[in-house]
Amino acid sequence: MLAIFVCLVFCLVLAFLLLASNVSISAEKTSSPPLLIISYDGFRWDYLNRTRTPNFDHIIKHGVYARRGLVNVFATSTLTNHWSMVTGLYPESHGIIDNHFFDPDVNKTYIPLYQNWSAVNDPRFYDTGAEPIWVTNQLQKENGRSGSVMWWGAENIVKNTRPTHHMPYNLTIESTYIIDTMVKWFTQDSGINLGLLYFSEPDHTAHQFGPDSDNVTQMIGKADELTGYLFRQLSRNDLLEDMNIIFTSDHGFASASKENLIYLDKYIDPSWYTVIHYTPVAAIMPKPGKEDIIFEKLKAASTDNHFTVYRKKDIPDRLRYRNNIRTPPIIIVADITYNFITNMSADQFKLAGNHGYDNKYEDMHPFFLAMGPSFKQGVEVETFQMVDLYPLMCRLLELQPAPNNGSLDVVSLFLQDQQNSIWTVSAYILSLAVIITLGGTFAVASVWHYCQKHKSSELGFGRTAARIHSFKDINAQYKLIPDEEAHDDGL
Ligand SMILES: [Zn+2]
Repeated sequence: MLAIFVCLVFCLVLAFLLLASNVSISAEKTSSPPLLIISYDGFRWDYLNRTRTPNFDHIIKHGVYARRGLVNVFATSTLTNHWSMVTGLYPESHGIIDNHFFDPDVNKTYIPLYQNWSAVNDPRFYDTGAEPIWVTNQLQKENGRSGSVMWWGAENIVKNTRPTHHMPYNLTIESTYIIDTMVKWFTQDSGINLGLLYFSEPDHTAHQFGPDSDNVTQMIGKADELTGYLFRQLSRNDLLEDMNIIFTSDHGFASASKENLIYLDKYIDPSWYTVIHYTPVAAIMPKPGKEDIIFEKLKAASTDNHFTVYRKKDIPDRLRYRNNIRTPPIIIVADITYNFITNMSADQFKLAGNHGYDNKYEDMHPFFLAMGPSFKQGVEVETFQMVDLYPLMCRLLELQPAPNNGSLDVVSLFLQDQQNSIWTVSAYILSLAVIITLGGTFAVASVWHYCQKHKSSELGFGRTAARIHSFKDINAQYKLIPDEEAHDDGL
């Protein structure tokens, strides 16, 4: 019995050691690759067809691609969409409803600080419960470290957390220096596992010259060159093959012109309201008692003048814009290529291109490409939702997503088959367990067999001896009774 017990303990210890080492190997195998997200501001989904873009072409061939880009969120403005990308929430849920907005609780208007980042905005504007990816990364991963270069909103403290490294918005910094800094953050001791990189072009050029201008075409080429520079720097540091990289943007673009202006002063008296953000979505804050007349006047004018007016309660569900305290009592939304102006002449209107329109317009949609060890190669889909990016990032970093509006339904098509790899690991563990169990059983059976045989052998030797010596001894051995008792039987 002791031998069997020792054998069982030995098998269990062996099984434990093998499984422990296997789990450790599996954990190492499945530790997530670092992730870099790059946003080229205002890069429309169809810009890739405009000029030679060998680096983007390389990603399409060796990575994944949304042929018609992303369906972004309304309003299709910069801050709103950058915040939806990293939180997976619609504007009515995260509260950054436009680049400027009024918060009745804070009793202030939010204005991005642009060139004055030494000033600190009220933390209540961003810390609304929405959880950006760097917060998820740093709160959940023991070694989760994040780096942000100029990513909109990353300068704010959210859930008592800021990115481990953050370079604030500064248009005077060379793009190559920005990339060098990001690569350094990934490669230094205690390096980051998540990077977010923002470039302000081709947005600025499209506002100034229009999205169809040669200037924008040149900027698309420069974005591609910058991507090539990034590849070379990552490759020199042995990072390119091991990193997942997402290339996307916040919105597309539409032309603007002095011919397509809507003069709000023609329809409503400027003394009746204040306006927070006025084109192409005007947030109207009526003065007391003026809401009804403003709405009626704008409603009557909207029929033939290329805009739509909504009371807050009537904003369509599909815009996911209504249910937030920051949504103003009335919004007016210009048709694409149209813009509102107040208190100015057409000559003062300087924009050649704009964005912010209803996200139903495809021209408002940004591009999407990605590549890396977790992505399949050469996979294309038609389009998907911008809010799906956050759960995708969480999947890539193996994080539990915070509550969000996104889904993995489409983006999981991009990913290497995790089910198979999980199954492979599980099958490996199961196979090992079966081998150990069978081996253990065989060992126990062998020992038992040996013990039984040993006992049988003892009987056999005695029997042989009995045959030689006497029947009495044989009978005694068969009955397993001591010799003394046999003698006492008188046989
Ligand atoms: Zn933008």
